Amino acid sequence: MVLPYILELATDEQRDRWLPGIADGTLITALGLTEPGMGSDLAGMGTSALATDAGYHVNGSKTFITNGINADLVVTAVKTDPAQRHRGISLVVLERGMDGFDRGRNLQKIGMHAQDTAELFFRDVEVPAENLLGREGEGFRYMSQNLAQERIGIAVAAVGAARGALDATLQYTKERNAFGQSVASFQASRFALAEMATEIEIATHYCDQAVLALNGGTLTPVDAAMAKWWTTELQGRVVDRCLQLHGGYGYMLEYPIARFYTDSRISRIYGGTTEIMKEIVGRDVVGR
Ligand SMILES: Cc1cc2nc3c(=O)[nH]c(=O)nc-3n(C[C@H](O)[C@H](O)[C@H](O)COP(=O)(O)OP(=O)(O)OC[C@H]3O[C@@H](n4cnc5c(N)ncnc54)[C@H](O)[C@@H]3O)c2cc1C
Repeated sequence: MVLPYILELATDEQRDRWLPGIADGTLITALGLTEPGMGSDLAGMGTSALATDAGYHVNGSKTFITNGINADLVVTAVKTDPAQRHRGISLVVLERGMDGFDRGRNLQKIGMHAQDTAELFFRDVEVPAENLLGREGEGFRYMSQNLAQERIGIAVAAVGAARGALDATLQYTKERNAFGQSVASFQASRFALAEMATEIEIATHYCDQAVLALNGGTLTPVDAAMAKWWTTELQGRVVDRCLQLHGGYGYMLEYPIARFYTDSRISRIYGGTTEIMKEIVGRDVVGR
């Protein structure tokens, strides 16, 4: 999620400073876009970075930041020109230990318990000019480009998780008996399993094409948005149906399907919600 920003935008000096640590795992990274008062409307962010002789004075806060507690480097979206919306946004890298850069709580989530998600606070943080990533005022453009890659990553993970949930359910329903036969052998179950297997297969092919387009430099934000909303909604449908096929055992945390269920809910929200993805696609299809 973060590395593409560094690889594409960092100067040689910044690469020398950060890439070895990122590569050997001693520098953990995070991406700070979302704020308590806004998430979908990125251009409305309020964290400011006002120019000083040495760089920037950063004030504001971020929330829901993955790796927020553990991160050493946070690629942070800020307003270098608070009077502007899209064109006022820049990216700066905040580093662990900078005065005035504090972490809040590790937020309690319904799923995804293995990753930390946190609030970040910036009070008069002095960020040197050497920590500006890319050009001032171009942050929104950089985010738009990189969010397409992030969204394909989420789409691929969603399809993988749906397939994992289906595999676990196939195994379970073949072993579980009701009315003297396996749950998998009921026609209703077989139709459900067939529908899910078909949709997962179709989604896999769309994602494969999108990954090839990404590698070839031709992936568009619209294609990425299509992939993100459709595959994550598919993931939601699949884990819900799979849990149903487990009966009461599906509601028990000791069964993998329960974790698939709680972990999956976020994928329709982070990286841009389903509604925002449809806005991106809709603007392309209908025009503004
Ligand atoms: C576990 C987790 C990890 C996250 N990791 C990160 C991270 O690492 N970095 C980061 O920056 N952010 C991260 N996020 C934040 C995530 O990207 C935002 O939560 C998401 O973009 C939605 O923003 P919001 O929560 O402010 O919702 P809002 O923008 O307040 O949206 C609320 C509802 O309104 C709808 N809505 C908003 N605008 C429109 C519109 N124009 N048309 C129709 N419907 C609309 C939304 O779809 C949603 O249903 C994470 C969130 C979670 C929960």
